[in-house]
Amino acid sequence: MSKILVLGSLSTDFVATTDIRPDVGETVQGNSFFTTFGGKGSNQAVAASRLESKVIMLGKVGDDSFANSIVDNLSDNGVDVSCVESVTHTSSGAAVITISDSDNSIVYVPGANGCVDAEYVNKYKKEILSCDIAVAQHEVSEEAVEALANICEEGKIPFVLNPAPYRKVKESILEKATYLLPNESECKLLYPNLSIEEAVAKYPNKLLVTMGSQGVFFNDGEKSHLVPTFKVDAVDTTGAGDTFIGGFSTAISNGLSIEDSITLANLAASQSVTKMGAQGGMPKLEDLKNNKN
Ligand code: ADP
Repeated sequence: MSKILVLGSLSTDFVATTDIRPDVGETVQGNSFFTTFGGKGSNQAVAASRLESKVIMLGKVGDDSFANSIVDNLSDNGVDVSCVESVTHTSSGAAVITISDSDNSIVYVPGANGCVDAEYVNKYKKEILSCDIAVAQHEVSEEAVEALANICEEGKIPFVLNPAPYRKVKESILEKATYLLPNESECKLLYPNLSIEEAVAKYPNKLLVTMGSQGVFFNDGEKSHLVPTFKVDAVDTTGAGDTFIGGFSTAISNGLSIEDSITLANLAASQSVTKMGAQGGMPKLEDLKNNKN
C-alpha cells in the first residue's frame, strides 16, 4: 500500500439540535447534543487510512481538553500522528453547529489550524519526501500549502490540491498541483468565465470536478466526460468530498488510471453518504470489496 501525506485541518464539531433557532439574546432548549470529529484534513486522512493507505498527518491542535481526543481519533484510525504538534495558549479547531429544521448555522473557529505555517511544513520535509503522494486543502494557510507544493515539486511527488473551502489559488501553487479536485461550486468560483466543460478541457487529466450525486467530470486529453457515481440512498452527504479525496489519492498512488481512481473514489464516497457524520460512513477497503453495486 502507498504512503500518503495529508496536510490540513483538525477539529471537533459540537452539534446541538433544536426545534427553535434562538434569536439574539434568547436561550432555547435543545433536543440533542453530540460531538463528531472533523476538519477536512482529518477527514481525508481517515478516509485514506480506512482504505489501507499508510497516512502521515501534518496539522496542529491546541492545548485544550479537545486536543487529545482529536489526535486519539486519528491514531485509532491508523493515521501516523508523530508530526502533529500542539500550540500553547490556543484552542483546537472547533465548529459549533446548531441544527434546526434540518438547516445548519455554524460558527467555525480555526484555533490551532490557523498556526499551520510554511516553517512547520518545511520542518517535516524528510517525512513529506518519504511519501508517494501529498494532499492539501484550504483550511490551513496559503503559505503552508505553497511550502508543501514546493517540496512536492522538488521531490517529484504527486500533489493533490482540494481547493476547499474556496479561496483564490495562486498560479505558483496551481502549476505545481498534479491534480486539482474542486466540487462544482468551487470550480465555478475558480473559473467564473468558463463552463465546467470548458474548465476541465483547459486542464486535461488534472482538473477533476466532483458533481455530487452525478459523479465526477474530467477531460482525458481527448474528450470531457462524466464518470458516474453509484446510486445509493443518501442520508448525510457531509464529508462526501473528503472521502472522495482520500479514495482518489489512495487509488492513484497505487498505480490505478485516473478513470479507475475516480471510480474507486466514487464508490467510497457513495458509501460514505449512506451513514451519518463525515467520518461515520467512510468505508474500509473490505466494505468496497463487499459492495454489490
Ligand atoms: P463535496 O462534499 O465536497 O461538496 P460532492 O458533493 O461533489 O463534494 O461529492 C463528492 C463525491 O461524493 C461525488 O463525486 C460522489 O462520488 C459522491 N457523492 C456525493 N453525493 C452523492 C450521492 N447523493 N450519491 C452518490 N454519491 C454521492
